[in-house]
Amino acid sequence: MNNEASTTRGRLVIVSNRLPVVFERGEEGLRTRPGSGGLVTALAPVLRDRGGIWIGWSGLPADEQEEVEHLLDGSSASAGYALRSVPLTAEELELYYYGFANEILWPLFHDLQSHCNFDPAYWASYREVNRKFAQHIAEAVAEEDFIWVHDYHLMLTGAELRERGLGNPLGFFLHIPFPPPDIFIKLPWRFNVLNALLDFDLLGFQTMRDKRNFVQCVRMLLPEIPVRAEGGFHVMQHHGRELRAGVFPISIDVREFRRLAASDEVSESAWYIHEALPDRQIVLGVDRLDYTKGIPYRLEAFRMLLRRHPDMRGRITLVQVVVPSRTDIPEYFDLKTKIERLVGEINGEFTTSGWVPIHYLFRHLTRGELLGYYRTAEIALVTPIKDGMNLVAKEYITCNLEGNGVLILSEFAGAAAQLHRDALLVNPYDIEGTAEALHVAFMMDHDERRRRMRRMRANVRRYDIYRWVESFLDAAASRHLHDFPMVSEYIPPYDTTELGVSI
Ligand code: UDP
Repeated sequence: MNNEASTTRGRLVIVSNRLPVVFERGEEGLRTRPGSGGLVTALAPVLRDRGGIWIGWSGLPADEQEEVEHLLDGSSASAGYALRSVPLTAEELELYYYGFANEILWPLFHDLQSHCNFDPAYWASYREVNRKFAQHIAEAVAEEDFIWVHDYHLMLTGAELRERGLGNPLGFFLHIPFPPPDIFIKLPWRFNVLNALLDFDLLGFQTMRDKRNFVQCVRMLLPEIPVRAEGGFHVMQHHGRELRAGVFPISIDVREFRRLAASDEVSESAWYIHEALPDRQIVLGVDRLDYTKGIPYRLEAFRMLLRRHPDMRGRITLVQVVVPSRTDIPEYFDLKTKIERLVGEINGEFTTSGWVPIHYLFRHLTRGELLGYYRTAEIALVTPIKDGMNLVAKEYITCNLEGNGVLILSEFAGAAAQLHRDALLVNPYDIEGTAEALHVAFMMDHDERRRRMRRMRANVRRYDIYRWVESFLDAAASRHLHDFPMVSEYIPPYDTTELGVSI
Protein backbone atom coordinates (compact mmCIF):
# COMPACT_ATOMS: atom_id res chain seq x y z
CA MET A 1 0.00 0.00 0.00
CA ASN A 2 1.39 3.42 -0.82
CA ASN A 3 -1.32 5.59 0.73
CA GLU A 4 0.05 5.86 4.22
CA ALA A 5 0.79 9.59 3.94
CA SER A 6 -0.43 11.25 7.10
CA THR A 7 -3.27 13.72 6.53
CA THR A 8 -2.35 15.70 9.62
CA ARG A 9 0.99 16.99 8.38
CA GLY A 10 -0.19 18.84 5.30
CA ARG A 11 -2.70 21.61 4.71
CA LEU A 12 -6.38 21.04 4.06
CA VAL A 13 -7.59 21.60 0.50
CA ILE A 14 -11.35 21.79 0.04
CA VAL A 15 -12.74 21.40 -3.46
CA SER A 16 -16.36 22.08 -4.32
CA ASN A 17 -18.26 23.18 -7.39
CA ARG A 18 -18.87 26.63 -5.88
CA LEU A 19 -16.57 28.75 -3.76
CA PRO A 20 -17.91 29.78 -0.34
CA VAL A 21 -18.16 33.46 -1.31
CA VAL A 22 -20.92 35.43 -2.94
CA PHE A 23 -20.08 37.95 -5.67
CA GLU A 24 -22.32 40.99 -5.90
CA ARG A 25 -22.28 43.69 -8.53
CA GLY A 26 -23.14 47.03 -7.04
CA GLU A 27 -22.66 50.62 -8.14
CA GLU A 28 -18.99 50.50 -7.23
CA GLY A 29 -18.43 47.36 -9.28
CA LEU A 30 -17.96 43.76 -8.20
CA ARG A 31 -17.70 42.96 -4.49
CA THR A 32 -17.56 39.77 -2.44
CA ARG A 33 -19.11 38.76 0.82
CA PRO A 34 -18.51 35.51 2.73
CA GLY A 35 -21.00 32.74 2.02
CA SER A 36 -23.18 31.53 4.86
CA GLY A 37 -24.10 27.99 5.83
CA GLY A 38 -22.94 25.48 8.39
CA LEU A 39 -20.38 23.77 6.20
CA VAL A 40 -18.40 26.95 5.54
CA THR A 41 -18.59 27.98 9.21
CA ALA A 42 -17.34 24.62 10.40
CA LEU A 43 -14.54 24.31 7.86
CA ALA A 44 -13.22 27.87 8.15
CA PRO A 45 -11.48 27.48 11.54
CA VAL A 46 -9.83 24.23 10.40
CA LEU A 47 -8.64 25.88 7.20
CA ARG A 48 -7.26 28.81 9.18
CA ASP A 49 -5.54 26.70 11.88
CA ARG A 50 -4.06 24.13 9.62
CA GLY A 51 -3.51 26.34 6.61
CA GLY A 52 -5.66 25.69 3.64
CA ILE A 53 -7.11 26.39 0.25
CA TRP A 54 -10.66 26.31 -1.05
CA ILE A 55 -10.93 25.63 -4.77
CA GLY A 56 -14.16 26.10 -6.74
CA TRP A 57 -16.06 28.04 -9.35
CA SER A 58 -16.86 31.66 -8.53
CA GLY A 59 -20.36 31.65 -10.02
CA LEU A 60 -19.33 34.24 -12.63
CA PRO A 61 -18.59 33.85 -16.35
CA ALA A 62 -15.03 32.93 -17.34
CA ASP A 63 -14.44 36.30 -19.04
CA GLU A 64 -14.61 37.97 -15.62
CA GLN A 65 -11.87 35.70 -14.28
CA GLU A 66 -9.25 38.42 -13.97
CA GLU A 67 -11.50 40.59 -11.80
CA VAL A 68 -12.57 37.53 -9.80
CA GLU A 69 -8.98 36.57 -9.05
CA HIS A 70 -8.16 40.07 -7.93
CA LEU A 71 -11.13 40.11 -5.56
CA LEU A 72 -10.34 36.64 -4.26
CA ASP A 73 -6.89 37.80 -3.19
CA GLY A 74 -8.61 40.27 -0.88
CA SER A 75 -11.19 37.71 0.34
CA SER A 76 -8.44 35.19 1.04
CA ALA A 77 -6.70 37.66 3.30
CA SER A 78 -9.86 38.33 5.32
CA ALA A 79 -10.94 34.65 5.39
CA GLY A 80 -7.53 33.52 6.63
CA TYR A 81 -7.15 30.86 3.93
CA ALA A 82 -6.64 30.94 0.19
CA LEU A 83 -9.52 30.94 -2.29
CA ARG A 84 -8.78 29.78 -5.83
CA SER A 85 -11.28 29.98 -8.62
CA VAL A 86 -11.74 27.55 -11.49
CA PRO A 87 -13.16 29.48 -14.48
CA LEU A 88 -16.10 27.90 -16.29
CA THR A 89 -17.35 28.97 -19.71
CA ALA A 90 -21.05 29.40 -20.47
CA GLU A 91 -20.93 26.20 -22.53
CA GLU A 92 -19.31 24.21 -19.72
CA LEU A 93 -21.90 25.50 -17.33
CA GLU A 94 -24.65 24.41 -19.66
CA LEU A 95 -23.28 20.91 -20.33
CA TYR A 96 -21.38 19.98 -17.17
CA TYR A 97 -23.42 21.74 -14.50
CA TYR A 98 -26.98 22.03 -15.80
CA GLY A 99 -26.52 18.99 -18.03
CA PHE A 100 -24.55 16.15 -16.48
CA ALA A 101 -24.78 17.16 -12.84
CA ASN A 102 -28.37 18.33 -12.77
CA GLU A 103 -30.11 16.48 -15.61
CA ILE A 104 -28.38 13.12 -15.04
CA LEU A 105 -26.70 12.67 -11.67
CA TRP A 106 -29.21 14.59 -9.57
CA PRO A 107 -32.33 12.70 -10.76
CA LEU A 108 -30.58 9.33 -11.08
CA PHE A 109 -29.06 9.43 -7.60
CA HIS A 110 -32.51 10.34 -6.24
CA ASP A 111 -33.95 7.20 -7.96
CA LEU A 112 -35.75 9.23 -10.63
CA GLN A 113 -34.25 7.77 -13.79
CA SER A 114 -37.24 8.83 -15.89
CA HIS A 115 -36.18 12.47 -15.31
CA CYS A 116 -32.71 11.84 -16.77
CA ASN A 117 -31.48 13.15 -20.08
CA PHE A 118 -28.49 10.93 -20.93
CA ASP A 119 -26.98 13.27 -23.50
CA PRO A 120 -23.44 12.12 -24.45
CA ALA A 121 -22.35 15.78 -24.83
CA TYR A 122 -23.02 16.20 -21.12
CA TRP A 123 -20.63 13.39 -20.27
CA ALA A 124 -17.85 14.78 -22.47
CA SER A 125 -18.12 18.13 -20.73
CA TYR A 126 -18.31 16.56 -17.25
CA ARG A 127 -15.00 14.81 -17.94
CA GLU A 128 -13.44 17.97 -19.29
CA VAL A 129 -14.49 20.08 -16.35
CA ASN A 130 -13.39 17.46 -13.81
CA ARG A 131 -10.04 17.40 -15.60
CA LYS A 132 -9.87 21.17 -15.41
CA PHE A 133 -10.57 21.09 -11.67
CA ALA A 134 -7.87 18.44 -11.24
CA GLN A 135 -5.43 20.67 -13.12
CA HIS A 136 -6.14 23.57 -10.76
CA ILE A 137 -5.88 21.32 -7.71
CA ALA A 138 -2.58 19.84 -8.89
CA GLU A 139 -1.13 23.31 -9.39
CA ALA A 140 -2.20 24.48 -5.93
CA VAL A 141 -1.26 21.61 -3.64
CA ALA A 142 1.92 20.47 -1.94
CA GLU A 143 2.87 16.84 -1.42
CA GLU A 144 1.33 16.21 1.96
CA ASP A 145 -1.86 18.26 1.66
CA PHE A 146 -5.12 16.45 2.30
CA ILE A 147 -7.53 17.05 -0.57
CA TRP A 148 -11.20 16.81 0.31
CA VAL A 149 -13.56 16.91 -2.68
CA HIS A 150 -17.27 17.59 -2.22
CA ASP A 151 -20.25 16.21 -4.05
CA TYR A 152 -21.55 14.77 -7.25
CA HIS A 153 -20.24 17.49 -9.57
CA LEU A 154 -16.66 16.33 -9.09
CA MET A 155 -16.65 12.54 -8.85
CA LEU A 156 -13.88 12.11 -11.44
CA THR A 157 -11.33 14.46 -9.89
CA GLY A 158 -9.68 11.72 -7.80
CA ALA A 159 -8.97 9.62 -10.87
CA GLU A 160 -7.76 12.65 -12.80
CA LEU A 161 -5.36 13.54 -9.99
CA ARG A 162 -4.01 9.99 -9.80
CA GLU A 163 -3.49 10.04 -13.56
CA ARG A 164 -1.30 13.11 -13.05
CA GLY A 165 0.72 11.07 -10.55
CA LEU A 166 -0.49 12.81 -7.39
CA GLY A 167 0.01 10.62 -4.32
CA ASN A 168 -1.76 12.96 -1.87
CA PRO A 169 -4.37 11.54 0.47
CA LEU A 170 -7.76 12.14 -1.18
CA GLY A 171 -11.19 12.25 0.44
CA PHE A 172 -14.60 12.58 -1.15
CA PHE A 173 -17.97 13.25 0.46
CA LEU A 174 -21.23 12.68 -1.38
CA HIS A 175 -23.89 15.07 -0.08
CA ILE A 176 -26.71 13.42 -2.06
CA PRO A 177 -27.88 9.78 -1.88
CA PHE A 178 -26.10 6.96 -3.70
CA PRO A 179 -28.60 4.87 -5.69
CA PRO A 180 -29.08 1.10 -5.52
CA PRO A 181 -27.43 -1.03 -8.27
CA ASP A 182 -30.60 -1.49 -10.34
CA ILE A 183 -30.76 2.26 -10.78
CA PHE A 184 -27.05 3.04 -10.93
CA ILE A 185 -26.55 0.65 -13.84
CA LYS A 186 -28.83 2.81 -15.99
CA LEU A 187 -25.98 5.33 -16.16
CA PRO A 188 -24.24 4.79 -19.53
CA TRP A 189 -20.94 5.80 -17.89
CA ARG A 190 -21.41 3.60 -14.77
CA PHE A 191 -17.99 1.94 -15.00
CA ASN A 192 -16.16 5.23 -15.47
CA VAL A 193 -17.86 6.83 -12.47
CA LEU A 194 -17.50 3.83 -10.18
CA ASN A 195 -13.85 3.26 -11.06
CA ALA A 196 -13.09 6.94 -10.59
CA LEU A 197 -14.60 6.93 -7.11
CA LEU A 198 -12.31 4.05 -6.18
CA ASP A 199 -9.29 6.30 -6.69
CA PHE A 200 -10.05 8.25 -3.51
CA ASP A 201 -8.68 7.03 -0.17
CA LEU A 202 -11.75 7.87 1.88
CA LEU A 203 -15.33 7.99 0.64
CA GLY A 204 -17.99 9.49 2.89
CA PHE A 205 -21.71 8.86 2.59
CA GLN A 206 -24.62 10.36 4.50
CA THR A 207 -26.21 7.09 5.63
CA MET A 208 -25.73 3.35 5.82
CA ARG A 209 -28.23 3.09 2.96
CA ASP A 210 -25.96 5.06 0.64
CA LYS A 211 -22.81 3.22 1.63
CA ARG A 212 -24.56 -0.11 1.21
CA ASN A 213 -25.76 0.90 -2.25
CA PHE A 214 -22.25 1.92 -3.24
CA VAL A 215 -20.71 -1.32 -1.96
CA GLN A 216 -23.39 -3.34 -3.76
CA CYS A 217 -22.60 -1.50 -7.00
CA VAL A 218 -18.91 -2.32 -6.59
CA ARG A 219 -19.68 -5.98 -5.87
CA MET A 220 -22.00 -6.24 -8.85
CA LEU A 221 -20.12 -4.24 -11.47
CA LEU A 222 -16.53 -4.79 -10.34
CA PRO A 223 -16.52 -8.27 -8.76
CA GLU A 224 -12.73 -8.48 -9.05
CA ILE A 225 -12.36 -5.75 -6.38
CA PRO A 226 -11.84 -7.30 -2.92
CA VAL A 227 -14.20 -5.77 -0.34
CA ARG A 228 -14.12 -6.33 3.41
CA ALA A 229 -15.82 -4.75 6.42
CA GLU A 230 -13.46 -3.39 9.07
CA GLY A 231 -14.02 -1.05 12.01
CA GLY A 232 -17.22 0.44 10.61
CA PHE A 233 -15.70 0.98 7.16
CA HIS A 234 -15.93 -1.03 3.99
CA VAL A 235 -12.40 -1.41 2.71
CA MET A 236 -11.60 -1.99 -0.96
CA GLN A 237 -8.35 -2.55 -2.84
CA HIS A 238 -7.86 -0.69 -6.09
CA HIS A 239 -4.77 0.18 -8.15
CA GLY A 240 -2.52 -0.95 -5.29
CA ARG A 241 -4.23 1.42 -2.86
CA GLU A 242 -6.76 0.94 -0.13
CA LEU A 243 -10.03 2.81 -0.19
CA ARG A 244 -12.27 3.10 2.88
CA ALA A 245 -15.96 3.95 2.68
CA GLY A 246 -17.70 5.26 5.81
CA VAL A 247 -20.84 6.98 7.01
CA PHE A 248 -20.76 10.63 8.13
CA PRO A 249 -24.23 12.14 8.57
CA ILE A 250 -23.97 15.87 7.90
CA SER A 251 -25.50 18.34 10.30
CA ILE A 252 -25.91 22.03 11.12
CA ASP A 253 -24.24 24.62 13.33
CA VAL A 254 -26.48 23.85 16.30
CA ARG A 255 -25.13 26.53 18.64
CA GLU A 256 -25.61 29.23 16.04
CA PHE A 257 -29.18 28.17 15.22
CA ARG A 258 -30.07 28.05 18.92
CA ARG A 259 -28.57 31.46 19.50
CA LEU A 260 -30.46 32.97 16.58
CA ALA A 261 -33.71 31.21 17.51
CA ALA A 262 -33.53 32.76 20.99
CA SER A 263 -32.86 36.27 19.65
CA ASP A 264 -35.42 39.05 20.08
CA GLU A 265 -35.89 39.33 16.34
CA VAL A 266 -36.87 35.67 15.97
CA SER A 267 -38.97 35.61 19.15
CA GLU A 268 -40.92 38.57 17.87
CA SER A 269 -41.29 37.12 14.42
CA ALA A 270 -42.57 33.84 15.95
CA TRP A 271 -45.07 35.73 18.09
CA TYR A 272 -46.42 37.72 15.14
CA ILE A 273 -46.78 34.62 13.00
CA HIS A 274 -48.99 32.97 15.59
CA GLU A 275 -50.88 36.14 16.39
CA ALA A 276 -51.88 36.28 12.74
CA LEU A 277 -52.99 32.63 12.83
CA PRO A 278 -54.67 32.28 16.22
CA ASP A 279 -56.29 29.17 17.74
CA ARG A 280 -54.82 26.69 15.37
CA GLN A 281 -51.78 24.54 14.84
CA ILE A 282 -49.33 25.57 12.16
CA VAL A 283 -47.89 22.86 9.92
CA LEU A 284 -44.69 23.99 8.23
CA GLY A 285 -43.16 22.84 4.97
CA VAL A 286 -39.90 24.46 3.74
CA ASP A 287 -38.39 23.24 0.50
CA ARG A 288 -36.39 24.35 -2.48
CA LEU A 289 -38.47 24.07 -5.66
CA ASP A 290 -37.38 20.57 -6.61
CA TYR A 291 -39.17 17.41 -7.70
CA THR A 292 -37.30 15.38 -5.06
CA LYS A 293 -39.04 17.26 -2.27
CA GLY A 294 -42.41 15.57 -2.79
CA ILE A 295 -44.42 18.79 -2.48
CA PRO A 296 -47.44 17.71 -4.61
CA TYR A 297 -47.87 14.45 -2.62
CA ARG A 298 -47.71 16.46 0.58
CA LEU A 299 -50.42 18.85 -0.63
CA GLU A 300 -52.58 15.87 -1.60
CA ALA A 301 -52.08 14.48 1.91
CA PHE A 302 -53.17 17.77 3.45
CA ARG A 303 -56.26 17.79 1.22
CA MET A 304 -57.06 14.24 2.33
CA LEU A 305 -56.73 15.23 5.97
CA LEU A 306 -59.25 18.02 5.52
CA ARG A 307 -61.65 15.79 3.58
CA ARG A 308 -61.51 12.88 5.99
CA HIS A 309 -61.32 14.83 9.24
CA PRO A 310 -63.73 17.77 8.87
CA ASP A 311 -63.07 18.63 12.54
CA MET A 312 -59.55 19.72 11.49
CA ARG A 313 -60.93 22.53 9.31
CA GLY A 314 -60.30 25.91 10.83
CA ARG A 315 -57.93 24.39 13.39
CA ILE A 316 -54.88 23.69 11.24
CA THR A 317 -52.99 25.79 8.68
CA LEU A 318 -50.27 24.59 6.35
CA VAL A 319 -47.55 27.18 5.73
CA GLN A 320 -45.73 25.92 2.65
CA VAL A 321 -42.55 27.82 1.79
CA VAL A 322 -41.13 27.06 -1.63
CA VAL A 323 -37.73 28.61 -2.29
CA PRO A 324 -37.32 29.50 -6.01
CA SER A 325 -34.77 27.36 -7.79
CA ARG A 326 -34.00 26.75 -11.49
CA THR A 327 -37.34 28.19 -12.65
CA ASP A 328 -35.90 28.79 -16.13
CA ILE A 329 -35.82 25.00 -16.63
CA PRO A 330 -39.19 23.80 -18.00
CA GLU A 331 -39.42 20.87 -15.60
CA TYR A 332 -39.08 23.13 -12.58
CA PHE A 333 -41.52 25.64 -14.02
CA ASP A 334 -44.03 22.83 -14.56
CA LEU A 335 -43.58 21.72 -10.95
CA LYS A 336 -44.26 25.25 -9.76
CA THR A 337 -47.43 25.36 -11.88
CA LYS A 338 -48.55 22.02 -10.46
CA ILE A 339 -47.97 23.13 -6.86
CA GLU A 340 -49.80 26.39 -7.41
CA ARG A 341 -52.74 24.63 -9.05
CA LEU A 342 -53.03 22.26 -6.08
CA VAL A 343 -52.77 25.09 -3.54
CA GLY A 344 -55.47 26.96 -5.46
CA GLU A 345 -57.73 23.89 -5.60
CA ILE A 346 -57.37 23.12 -1.90
CA ASN A 347 -57.84 26.71 -0.79
CA GLY A 348 -60.79 27.01 -3.19
CA GLU A 349 -62.43 23.91 -1.73
CA PHE A 350 -62.01 24.63 1.98
CA THR A 351 -61.44 28.34 2.68
CA THR A 352 -64.02 29.92 4.98
CA SER A 353 -64.22 33.47 6.28
CA GLY A 354 -61.30 33.83 8.68
CA TRP A 355 -59.48 30.63 7.65
CA VAL A 356 -57.31 29.86 4.63
CA PRO A 357 -55.99 26.27 4.82
CA ILE A 358 -52.70 26.81 2.95
CA HIS A 359 -50.45 29.86 3.18
CA TYR A 360 -48.15 29.56 0.21
CA LEU A 361 -44.89 31.55 0.06
CA PHE A 362 -42.82 31.36 -3.12
CA ARG A 363 -39.68 33.27 -2.20
CA HIS A 364 -36.48 33.25 -0.17
CA LEU A 365 -37.16 33.96 3.48
CA THR A 366 -34.87 36.05 5.63
CA ARG A 367 -33.13 34.11 8.40
CA GLY A 368 -35.38 35.86 10.93
CA GLU A 369 -38.57 34.86 9.11
CA LEU A 370 -37.46 31.26 8.58
CA LEU A 371 -36.44 30.78 12.19
CA GLY A 372 -39.63 32.47 13.33
CA TYR A 373 -41.61 29.80 11.47
CA TYR A 374 -39.36 27.02 12.83
CA ARG A 375 -39.84 28.28 16.35
CA THR A 376 -43.55 28.63 16.25
CA ALA A 377 -44.84 25.80 14.03
CA GLU A 378 -46.44 22.98 16.02
CA ILE A 379 -45.77 20.46 13.26
CA ALA A 380 -43.05 20.25 10.59
CA LEU A 381 -43.91 18.28 7.48
CA VAL A 382 -40.65 17.13 5.86
CA THR A 383 -41.56 14.61 3.19
CA PRO A 384 -39.01 14.43 0.36
CA ILE A 385 -39.35 11.42 -1.90
CA LYS A 386 -35.59 11.01 -1.45
CA ASP A 387 -33.01 13.25 0.20
CA GLY A 388 -29.33 12.90 1.13
CA MET A 389 -29.94 14.24 4.64
CA ASN A 390 -32.45 17.13 4.81
CA LEU A 391 -31.19 19.95 6.96
CA VAL A 392 -34.61 21.58 7.35
CA ALA A 393 -35.55 18.73 9.70
CA LYS A 394 -32.49 19.35 11.89
CA GLU A 395 -32.96 23.12 11.82
CA TYR A 396 -36.61 22.77 12.88
CA ILE A 397 -35.68 20.55 15.81
CA THR A 398 -32.89 22.87 16.92
CA CYS A 399 -35.03 26.03 16.72
CA ASN A 400 -38.00 24.46 18.48
CA LEU A 401 -36.92 25.97 21.79
CA GLU A 402 -40.30 25.39 23.43
CA GLY A 403 -39.80 21.70 22.75
CA ASN A 404 -43.39 20.95 21.79
CA GLY A 405 -43.14 20.51 18.03
CA VAL A 406 -43.80 17.29 16.13
CA LEU A 407 -41.64 16.26 13.18
CA ILE A 408 -43.29 14.27 10.41
CA LEU A 409 -40.42 12.89 8.37
CA SER A 410 -40.07 10.91 5.16
CA GLU A 411 -38.46 7.54 5.70
CA PHE A 412 -36.48 8.26 2.51
CA ALA A 413 -34.72 11.34 3.92
CA GLY A 414 -31.21 10.64 5.23
CA ALA A 415 -32.24 12.31 8.49
CA ALA A 416 -34.65 9.42 9.15
CA ALA A 417 -31.71 7.15 10.00
CA GLN A 418 -31.00 9.43 12.93
CA LEU A 419 -34.49 10.52 13.96
CA HIS A 420 -36.71 7.54 13.23
CA ARG A 421 -37.42 6.78 16.88
CA ASP A 422 -38.98 10.11 17.71
CA ALA A 423 -40.21 11.58 14.44
CA LEU A 424 -43.44 10.31 12.87
CA LEU A 425 -42.08 8.48 9.86
CA VAL A 426 -44.09 8.39 6.65
CA ASN A 427 -43.75 7.01 3.19
CA PRO A 428 -44.14 10.27 1.21
CA TYR A 429 -45.89 8.45 -1.65
CA ASP A 430 -48.53 7.21 0.80
CA ILE A 431 -51.06 10.04 0.76
CA GLU A 432 -53.41 8.34 3.23
CA GLY A 433 -50.56 7.48 5.61
CA THR A 434 -49.24 11.04 5.56
CA ALA A 435 -52.74 12.45 6.12
CA GLU A 436 -53.06 10.13 9.09
CA ALA A 437 -49.66 11.13 10.48
CA LEU A 438 -50.85 14.75 10.32
CA HIS A 439 -53.90 13.83 12.33
CA VAL A 440 -51.83 11.92 14.88
CA ALA A 441 -49.40 14.85 15.16
CA PHE A 442 -52.27 17.28 15.67
CA MET A 443 -53.77 15.13 18.43
CA MET A 444 -50.47 14.24 20.13
CA ASP A 445 -50.53 15.22 23.77
CA HIS A 446 -48.16 17.71 25.27
CA ASP A 447 -46.08 15.20 27.25
CA GLU A 448 -45.44 12.95 24.32
CA ARG A 449 -44.50 15.87 22.10
CA ARG A 450 -41.99 17.05 24.69
CA ARG A 451 -40.55 13.60 25.24
CA ARG A 452 -39.97 13.02 21.54
CA MET A 453 -38.64 16.51 20.89
CA ARG A 454 -36.27 16.36 23.84
CA ARG A 455 -34.61 13.21 22.49
CA MET A 456 -34.39 14.58 18.96
CA ARG A 457 -32.88 17.84 20.21
CA ALA A 458 -30.26 15.96 22.22
CA ASN A 459 -29.43 13.81 19.22
CA VAL A 460 -28.96 16.73 16.82
CA ARG A 461 -27.01 18.68 19.45
CA ARG A 462 -24.53 15.81 19.92
CA TYR A 463 -23.83 15.36 16.24
CA ASP A 464 -23.44 18.87 14.90
CA ILE A 465 -21.50 20.11 11.88
CA TYR A 466 -18.27 20.55 13.87
CA ARG A 467 -18.42 16.92 14.90
CA TRP A 468 -19.04 15.99 11.28
CA VAL A 469 -15.94 17.82 10.03
CA GLU A 470 -13.86 16.39 12.84
CA SER A 471 -15.04 12.84 12.23
CA PHE A 472 -14.24 12.97 8.51
CA LEU A 473 -10.79 14.46 9.08
CA ASP A 474 -10.09 11.95 11.88
CA ALA A 475 -11.13 9.08 9.67
CA ALA A 476 -8.80 10.36 6.96
CA ALA A 477 -5.88 10.94 9.32
CA SER A 478 -6.07 8.14 11.83
CA ARG A 479 -8.29 5.60 10.09
CA HIS A 480 -10.55 5.75 13.09
CA LEU A 481 -14.29 6.02 12.53
CA HIS A 482 -16.29 8.04 15.05
CA ASP A 483 -19.26 6.26 16.41
CA PHE A 484 -22.58 7.74 15.33
CA PRO A 485 -24.77 5.34 17.31
CA MET A 486 -28.10 6.69 16.09
CA VAL A 487 -27.34 6.16 12.43
CA SER A 488 -26.00 2.67 12.34
CA GLU A 489 -29.31 0.93 12.49
CA TYR A 490 -31.44 -0.54 9.80
CA ILE A 491 -34.74 1.27 9.38
CA PRO A 492 -37.58 -1.18 9.12
CA PRO A 493 -40.32 -0.29 6.67
CA TYR A 494 -42.70 1.77 8.74
CA ASP A 495 -46.26 0.61 9.05
CA THR A 496 -48.51 3.64 9.39
CA THR A 497 -51.15 1.53 11.11
CA GLU A 498 -48.70 1.57 14.04
CA LEU A 499 -49.73 5.16 14.55
CA GLY A 500 -52.68 3.65 16.36
CA VAL A 501 -55.45 5.41 14.48
CA SER A 502 -57.12 4.15 11.35
CA ILE A 503 -58.81 6.38 8.85
N1 UDP B 1 -33.23 27.90 3.33
C1 UDP B 1 -32.79 29.10 2.83
N2 UDP B 1 -33.69 30.08 2.50
C2 UDP B 1 -35.03 29.91 2.67
C3 UDP B 1 -35.49 28.68 3.17
C4 UDP B 1 -34.56 27.70 3.48
O1 UDP B 1 -31.57 29.30 2.69
O2 UDP B 1 -35.81 30.83 2.36
C5 UDP B 1 -32.21 26.88 3.68
C6 UDP B 1 -32.52 26.08 4.93
O3 UDP B 1 -32.17 26.83 6.07
C7 UDP B 1 -31.66 24.83 4.72
C8 UDP B 1 -31.52 24.73 3.20
O4 UDP B 1 -32.12 25.91 2.66
O5 UDP B 1 -30.39 24.99 5.31
C9 UDP B 1 -32.20 23.49 2.63
O6 UDP B 1 -31.38 22.39 2.92
P1 UDP B 1 -31.91 20.89 2.80
O7 UDP B 1 -30.81 19.99 3.19
O8 UDP B 1 -33.18 20.72 3.59
O9 UDP B 1 -32.30 20.71 1.28
P2 UDP B 1 -31.52 21.06 -0.09
O10 UDP B 1 -32.17 22.32 -0.58
O11 UDP B 1 -30.07 21.20 0.23
O12 UDP B 1 -31.82 19.90 -1.01
